[in-house]
Amino acid sequence: MAGRRTLGIVKPDGIVNGKLGLILAHVERAGFKVRAARLVRLSRAQAEAFYEVHRGRPFYEELVTFMSSGPCLPFALERADAVATFRATIGATDPAEASPGTIRKLFAESKGRNAVHGSDSDENAAREIGFFFTEAEVADLAQ
Ligand code: ADP
Repeated sequence: MAGRRTLGIVKPDGIVNGKLGLILAHVERAGFKVRAARLVRLSRAQAEAFYEVHRGRPFYEELVTFMSSGPCLPFALERADAVATFRATIGATDPAEASPGTIRKLFAESKGRNAVHGSDSDENAAREIGFFFTEAEVADLAQ
């Protein structure tokens, strides 16, 4: 059964471009409850660890440099069928290919600077939430 949690990140371009509030409003309108959130500046080592699965891909260096270039906002979300619904809410990786009304279509600049991250499976959602938040931080707010 699909899980109720996923991990999103407003990436540095979304914050630098002043879209943080608009993006969070869009997320809430899509029916998600924000269970935990924190503004962080990732070190290069943290960005490398978060995107470990992409190590060796042609865009890995660019991705790690970009994700550690400024503040970002990881947030843990809850709603039914969270992973698939959030992926649909953010749209395709390349904003040029994203559907109208999706966050990436509305707020992203390019495939590299695409405003938001969303977990791609329940397993990765659990790993990624755990990367940024303790279970207590997520659970304490879940009432
Ligand atoms: P998604 O974030 O849509 O799940 P991927 O998991 O394929 O996409 O890639 C992770 C992130 O790596 C993307 O969100 C994007 O920031 C970056 N990325 C992927 N492909 C490219 C590319 N061809 N050029 C630059 N950056 C890329």
